[in-house]
Amino acid sequence: MSDVKSVERPAPPQGSRDSAFFWEGVGREVLLGQQCTGCKRFRHPPRPLCPHCRSFEWKAVELSGRGTVHSWVKPIHPPLPMFPEGYLVALIDLEEGIRLLSNLCEIEPDDVENGMSVEVFFAPTRDGGRIHQFRPTQEARRG
Ligand SMILES: [Zn+2]
Repeated sequence: MSDVKSVERPAPPQGSRDSAFFWEGVGREVLLGQQCTGCKRFRHPPRPLCPHCRSFEWKAVELSGRGTVHSWVKPIHPPLPMFPEGYLVALIDLEEGIRLLSNLCEIEPDDVENGMSVEVFFAPTRDGGRIHQFRPTQEARRG
């Protein structure tokens, strides 16, 4: 099993004014979602206008951090020196109905299944910050 927890990650992207709240939350190990105060739906990636009701009003809400694997891939080429060998990239469907792009950790590629339950955790970055990552839940590990 890849020991990805011990590998420090590159610093997260600078983000934009729209996504600043998301990265601020990740920095203090809280996964935040952008919820429309008009129709109450979540959206991701963060943006000013609700795609459902066109409201500009929103608030940052703490997410459960639980979801399922929608799809995943193991990048092979080109190797990126800033990432540990054998890392997995996954689309995670969160309980709140939004999809996040992240890394899937603490699992071998052959053991990943679409729809498996995962949970967020936060890994250190080289700049002393944090980055959100996902791993199988205890229930999913027991299979
Ligand atoms: Zn809305």
